[in-house]
Amino acid sequence: MHDQSSIPYDVVIAGAGPVGLFLACELQLAGLQVLVLEQSQDSHSALKQLPFGLRGLSISTLEAFHRRGLLEEIVAAQQLTSDAIKRAAHWMQQTRRPAGHFAGLQFYQDNIDVAKWSWRLPTSADANLAVDMATLESVLAARARSMGVEIRRGFAVNAVVASSEDVTVQAAGETFRAR
Ligand SMILES: Cc1cc2nc3c(=O)[nH]c(=O)nc-3n(C[C@H](O)[C@H](O)[C@H](O)COP(=O)(O)OP(=O)(O)OC[C@H]3O[C@@H](n4cnc5c(N)ncnc54)[C@H](O)[C@@H]3O)c2cc1C
Repeated sequence: MHDQSSIPYDVVIAGAGPVGLFLACELQLAGLQVLVLEQSQDSHSALKQLPFGLRGLSISTLEAFHRRGLLEEIVAAQQLTSDAIKRAAHWMQQTRRPAGHFAGLQFYQDNIDVAKWSWRLPTSADANLAVDMATLESVLAARARSMGVEIRRGFAVNAVVASSEDVTVQAAGETFRAR
């Protein structure tokens, strides 16, 4: 039996995209020690900027960010690009609030019977928001780092081996252990 206290991480996440970074924040908030390994050395990419990097945030995403105080940070961080985003995101100019799409068919929030969602948490987040991936990832990465998440770039995960005692993750010739 190995000494579990010698294992530095509780969780290793492959990929510093929006999901990996937000998950890292949530796990760290729950008291776990998290390592994020990202294959890309450089966080800048033309694909993460306008026009290709444009993302409309769904209601549930907005609410999750709002609950963690991230929505305000994202809005503030994208001030510089907000005019360009409004031009690119035509749906933001609609008077009805878009709620998402299914196979490209848009539906609106006023067509959703939210009373059916008994599990839904109360929220005051009610903004339409489009954001570029670069801004979103930089806000989430800054939050994650401030919480103590370790983010290492230039590490492509190429093997994960789980035993009854630990999980071993291999990336860029190095080995990382998690509980
Ligand atoms: C053109 C386009 C438009 C879209 N529009 C919308 C939209 O309007 N609204 C919306 O909600 N969603 C949209 N999406 C979907 C949205 O971008 C994805 O759902 C979201 O990016 C998924 O986040 P993620 O963190 O899971 O993955 P990703 O954003 O793909 O990030 C994964 C990360 O993992 C890294 N990685 C991959 N493999 C490894 C490895 N082996 N080791 C280490 N790192 C690794 C990658 O480099 C990357 O940084 C769109 C997608 C595309 C392509």
